[in-house]
Amino acid sequence: STIRCDVLVIGAGAAGLMTAITAGQRGRHVQVIDHANKIGKKILMSGGGRCNFTNTGTTPANFLSANPHFCKSALARYSPYHFIEMVERHGIAYHEKELGQLFCDVSSKQIVKMLVDECQQAGVQIRTQCSVERIEHGTDGFRVQTTHGLFHCASLVVATGGLSIPSLGATGFGYEIARQFGHQLLPTRAGLVPLTLSGTHQERLAELSGVALPVEASCNGTSFRNFMLLTHRGVSGPAILQISSFWQPGDALSLDLLPGQDAAEWLRQMKRERPAAELRTVLGDVLPKRLAQRLCEHWLPDRPVRQLDEPDLRKAAQVLSAFPLVASGTEGYRTAEVTLGGVDTNEVSSSTLESKRVPGLHFVGEVLDVTGWLGGYNFQWAWASGHAAGCVV
Ligand code: FAD
Repeated sequence: STIRCDVLVIGAGAAGLMTAITAGQRGRHVQVIDHANKIGKKILMSGGGRCNFTNTGTTPANFLSANPHFCKSALARYSPYHFIEMVERHGIAYHEKELGQLFCDVSSKQIVKMLVDECQQAGVQIRTQCSVERIEHGTDGFRVQTTHGLFHCASLVVATGGLSIPSLGATGFGYEIARQFGHQLLPTRAGLVPLTLSGTHQERLAELSGVALPVEASCNGTSFRNFMLLTHRGVSGPAILQISSFWQPGDALSLDLLPGQDAAEWLRQMKRERPAAELRTVLGDVLPKRLAQRLCEHWLPDRPVRQLDEPDLRKAAQVLSAFPLVASGTEGYRTAEVTLGGVDTNEVSSSTLESKRVPGLHFVGEVLDVTGWLGGYNFQWAWASGHAAGCVV
């Protein structure tokens, strides 16, 4: 027997559930299917279990895409405050951590429960462990053969997310659907991901695993000031995760180890005030001691600061303010928070998220070539794009 509905959403993650809620509230008959045994797994895992569900400072500038204008329309019509209104209506306590990032006080489970409750109120049906076998499109809509039977719908919404963290149910299925219907895909790669180091950098820094410090990481004209964490394999922490989305193999990456300070001026000041002190000692007051020591073993002169002449001093300042980090790669989709690239936005309407090739077909969330920075922006894109599609399907 055929299951008839107005809207079939594939993927019960952030974007799919928001699409379903919005369409259901309009009186549309909505079905949501997911192949996983549980819905919203990434929401549950997110923000260390507290879900950084939005960022109050969200602007289109916080997203990467081959078409930076694409995200504007949906973001403008569904702001962080729309989502906050829902969170407050459900009595979920939250707080701002830093830089506009909002987290649940208690648990990300509350966000999933809120979305499920909203689905229920809107008459949306959700099925888990349901896999798609075949999709056909005709003049009367879509026929989707699944392990739970045949669905016949007027609108089909692809909300299957990106490739990051396969163990949480991520697949490239959305890209397959896009390809089936003649859509272009932009190359995908892991974003918001720790970087691995190579050669001497790896050898010299691996021992410092666990050391954290504020840095300003720069790559291809973009910089982020935040914490960096040294790991066994390389570097992580928010500054590195952010810059990883802008880095590709071979690109130069540099770190300002004294962010917000003029390193040369600081060294001159040290020379005046503490001439007899070793460079590693004065550096150890502003950097983690083990890092200061390691820098003086390999990259900086290991001498009392009074022995640094002006050229030495300028060279040392250059190392401190633009330390060249040689990354060999990323840790890949296993640990990446997002997937860059995806469905080319040029063939999708920015206001309805509908395919320009196939009427009734929509793409929402991370499956599209829209990727947010770290800090709640990716969920805001999922909510906003889901809402935009939900208004028209
Ligand atoms: P998803 O939420 O990934 O949902 C896709 C759904 O589709 C899944 O339920 C999946 O099971 C289903 N699916 C996949 N393939 C198939 C298939 N073949 N058939 C049927 N169903 C399928 N962003 C933030 O803004 N703040 C955070 O704090 C944050 N923390 C994160 C932490 C981690 C560990 C990770 C991995 C990501 C985090 N992100 C965060 C990013 C954010 O989770 C994603 O950008 C967001 O979930 C994307 O929403 P989506 O609905 O497009 O995809």
